[in-house]
Amino acid sequence: MLDTTRHMVTRRPNAVIVISLALAGAILAIAIWVLAQMRDDALRRAQDSAGNVSLLVERDVARNLELYDLSLLAVIAGLKQPGVMALPPAIRQLVLFDGAASAQDMGSMLVLDEAGNAIIDSQSVPPRHINSADRDYFVVHRNSPDVGLYVSRPFKSRLSNAGMSIALSRRLSHPDGSFAGVVVGTLRLEYFHRLFAGMNLGNSGSMALMLANGTMLMRRPYDPKIIGISLVGTANYTRFTLQDSGDFFGTASIDGVERWYAFRHIDRFPLLLDVAISTRDIYAGWRRRAWIIGSLIGSLDMAIIALAVLFSQQLRRRQEVEEALRVLARTDGLTGLNNRRTFEERAEEAWLLMQRSGRPLSMLLIDVDNFKGFNDLYGHSAGDDALVAVARCIDGNVRRPSDVAARYGGEEFAVLLPDTDAGGAAQIAEQIRAAVQALVLGHVASAHHVLTISIGIASTASHAFATYRAFVNAADTALYEAKDAGRNRILAYPVAARADSPGMVTQPGH
Ligand code: GH3
Ligand code: MG
Ligand code: MG
Repeated sequence: MLDTTRHMVTRRPNAVIVISLALAGAILAIAIWVLAQMRDDALRRAQDSAGNVSLLVERDVARNLELYDLSLLAVIAGLKQPGVMALPPAIRQLVLFDGAASAQDMGSMLVLDEAGNAIIDSQSVPPRHINSADRDYFVVHRNSPDVGLYVSRPFKSRLSNAGMSIALSRRLSHPDGSFAGVVVGTLRLEYFHRLFAGMNLGNSGSMALMLANGTMLMRRPYDPKIIGISLVGTANYTRFTLQDSGDFFGTASIDGVERWYAFRHIDRFPLLLDVAISTRDIYAGWRRRAWIIGSLIGSLDMAIIALAVLFSQQLRRRQEVEEALRVLARTDGLTGLNNRRTFEERAEEAWLLMQRSGRPLSMLLIDVDNFKGFNDLYGHSAGDDALVAVARCIDGNVRRPSDVAARYGGEEFAVLLPDTDAGGAAQIAEQIRAAVQALVLGHVASAHHVLTISIGIASTASHAFATYRAFVNAADTALYEAKDAGRNRILAYPVAARADSPGMVTQPGH
């Protein structure tokens, strides 16, 4: 498996790049997956913390309001006791109001008659001159007998300069059910402000407490201008009204910041609480880490790809060199024809193929005539040029891909012609001989005055050879005979008796 891969890689430089791209892609995909997980985790942490904070605040608010309500109920129960109203005012004070009314952020608790006048005051005996007939809590209880505990709109207290407050109130009824007045206690919004400030919500978090009807009681970040405004119609408030509790991504109508909201209706009270963590805060840490991891992975991927490109370039260069060496090892340096070793290899293959298929195989053995004399007359360098020219004549007439033309040694050449009978071989031989003669390379020492060649032919079509060697020797014999018969000619094996020269295929032209 490893070997196959190595083989594939070293053979195909592009595979290196493809593999590196796949590797880089896989690393990138893993990084993206991890970052996506980290992002989800960041959101989950924010969801948990928003949920926890909202639960904590709800508990605190619900418990305090419940205690306050119990105080109101205690006052109502006390007022129903015969004789309580007959007690001396100072004693009656102690009987009606327990400690709750004097706790921090709790304002005064009042009993109002049906005209809205204070008749009992937790903070003063005799009661201060107060009329609250115009307050929403008074009007609500007067108009309806079954409101239960009412939480008022925020208002500025007339009794102190303690800032904004809300009132918790319950109705007093005569035994016949008719309106008898209201028991009311005030609670400073400072209580919520302090409660909100104690929570950890990130830099741009927000919290808000609203009446169920959408009236803003307290918000963090604090802005006195928004206390008492109505949120009815805003997208977030609309979502708050759909469920008892829930969470979602939303944008505050007040400051336009996108946040994750966790909201809940406070148990048994007409109040609504939301806790929100800004999207920017949720993902701040993640974003920083994503940048670092992303750039590290990006650099890693780039390095992998760059190395792969370098490696594949080197591989390609090596392949080119190897290929050049291979060609060099197979060819003759002077003429560019196959060298003798290549010829022998191809010839053995062709011989085996011929034996299996029974199709004819022929070969030409070519030798330049009087070449020693040519070298002596015109110089070794001119001799080399002549050999190159002769090689070109041979190559130009040997065209089939299965044909093999080679420099056999010195000034000898060989041509292997598979699927060719003696006649075909003689035809090609004559074309080559004629082409060399037509070069008209002057050779004063030759009987033909120009450079010529002699060719011996052997063909399995005209004689059964026992071995490849015998086949080659036959071509050599024919060549020797051609030389002997006067050169510049072609003879095929078997050569007949010299006297009548029937083996001579071609007479030299003049
Ligand atoms: P024959 O017609 O009988 O073939 O005579 P010849 O002179 O061609 O035969 P011989 O074998 O005596 O001489 C061959 C010569 O070819 C000897 C050598 O100097 C020359 N020769 C062999 N290889 C090369 C070569 O690569 N370049 C050159 N210039 N000459 C070569
Ligand atoms: Mg020779
Ligand atoms: Mg020769």
